[in-house]
Amino acid sequence: MQEKGNISIHTENIFPIIKKFLYSDHEIFLRELVSNAVDASQKIKRLASIGEYNGDLGELKVKVSFDKEAKTITISDSGLGMTAEEIKKYINQIAFSGATEFVEKYKDKGDEKAIIGHFGLGFYSAFMVAGQVEINTKSYQENTESARWICDGSTEFEISAGNRETRGTDITLYIAEDSEEFLDELRIKQILEKYCKFLPIEIEFQDKIVNNPAPIWAKSPSELSDEDYLKFYEELYPFAEKPLFWIHLNVDYPFNLTGILYFPKVKNELQLQREKIQLYSRQVFITDEVKDVVPEFLMLLHGVIDSPDIPLNVSRSFLQADSNVKKINTYITKKVADKLGDLFKSDRQGFEEKFENIGIFVKYGMISDEKFYDRAKDYCLVQNTDGKLFTLNEYAEFVQANQKDKNDDVIYLYSSDVLAQDGFIQSAKKRGYDVLKLDSVLDNHFINMLEQKIVKTHLKRVDADTIEKLIDNGIVIETILSEEDKNTIKGIFEEVISDKSKSVVLEAMPVDELPAVITQNEFMRRMTDMSRVGGG
Ligand code: ADP
Ligand code: MG
Repeated sequence: MQEKGNISIHTENIFPIIKKFLYSDHEIFLRELVSNAVDASQKIKRLASIGEYNGDLGELKVKVSFDKEAKTITISDSGLGMTAEEIKKYINQIAFSGATEFVEKYKDKGDEKAIIGHFGLGFYSAFMVAGQVEINTKSYQENTESARWICDGSTEFEISAGNRETRGTDITLYIAEDSEEFLDELRIKQILEKYCKFLPIEIEFQDKIVNNPAPIWAKSPSELSDEDYLKFYEELYPFAEKPLFWIHLNVDYPFNLTGILYFPKVKNELQLQREKIQLYSRQVFITDEVKDVVPEFLMLLHGVIDSPDIPLNVSRSFLQADSNVKKINTYITKKVADKLGDLFKSDRQGFEEKFENIGIFVKYGMISDEKFYDRAKDYCLVQNTDGKLFTLNEYAEFVQANQKDKNDDVIYLYSSDVLAQDGFIQSAKKRGYDVLKLDSVLDNHFINMLEQKIVKTHLKRVDADTIEKLIDNGIVIETILSEEDKNTIKGIFEEVISDKSKSVVLEAMPVDELPAVITQNEFMRRMTDMSRVGGG
């Protein structure tokens, strides 16, 4: 037996679920209603531009106000408004998006990117905080009556003639008792500043405009000066130090994305940065949790990313699996790698000066991303203890001739603490070896990576026991001790160090300040260091 049919939904059961679980953050209601008002304003602009509306556009502003006594919050716009029929169509049908319909209808006539709405669910977020919602609206269309819609959050609504005399819409929320926290000037201001700061239509609250409707990431790089970028950085992070440089992202195929990523000064610290990258969709703030969209090693960057192709309101696991998100991630990695490559090629000296700050990104990126490694290996710099910077190829050439061990493998010596290891460094230099300075928190991982990537090359810490096994390059260090003296001294040390796993070796050191040194096996030491830094 076979039967086909339609699954039915009981609105009265599903409605509370939508209200409750649509968004985890209740404050989002304001973002949704203000974006609808912005959409309505953009739509009337569009209609005017294509000659479908010939009236006066007037001042297109969205006004947010609240009344503590009446316990209401109102969002007003002078957008295209709605007729009673349109309310029935767009508001009474949940998950039917008028925004999507509008974009479909006027698709070939301009910039559909300007419209925010998409899912046809946003409006109902009002019921997360309101016991009753009222719409008062008047359509731009001639010979239409204004309309009023009231709903108390049940599946019943009431439509009647409205009292709005001019084009546009007022949405009034009668705030529920458990949401009265939102009837607060500061709270509303903070929410607007968080989500609506860069919405493309002016938003007014308490007689002040709270947003910048034309953020620079939406402009073309050719229109912008360095000052514009620095000013915008300050607008995003008022207390931060100036950034080193930035990348303006701008792509429209195979996905849409704009944004600006700034390289901050991070020095050697990998600490969590307070300033985070902000994620926007059509100039609406979504989140500053950009994990998955931005590769982990670039999360230390600052700035904004705006993409209508990043799915909103969806769970983290969905975001990870989303193919657009993966493409965006790859694109950003490539852009950053290319930008660094350009800087290196066009201004080696400037690049070297900045490397103290950007080295951490470059190394982190090379360790964690194969594709990034392939691009960055040509400009990643290493510094020796004399302060000279080399690319990896330059360094290989520099040391290859004379730094070999008995297996003919190339040895790179490095110091993890140039002050404490100075004696060893001097000793190595006297033997004709160069010593790298690799002392950042990431360097243990970086060293392991280099060993895997560069064939027949080993990195040894300058104070490791292997140093004695290096071929000495014909430099003889004289010892003034007789064999007998040596044995006596060895005996003394062996007695003190009761641990039989440690051995005492007596040899001449070229530096007088160090009468005795304790070295540790390179492998064992690295194991302990790695466990301290944490794997990855
Ligand atoms: P979406 O914005 O994703 O389309 P919403 O649930 O937020 O879905 O809104 C549903 C529809 O109601 C909108 O697409 C629009 O047609 C209409 N609408 C909502 N708010 C307004 C408004 N302020 N002015 C005009 N139309 C509106
Ligand atoms: Mg909406």
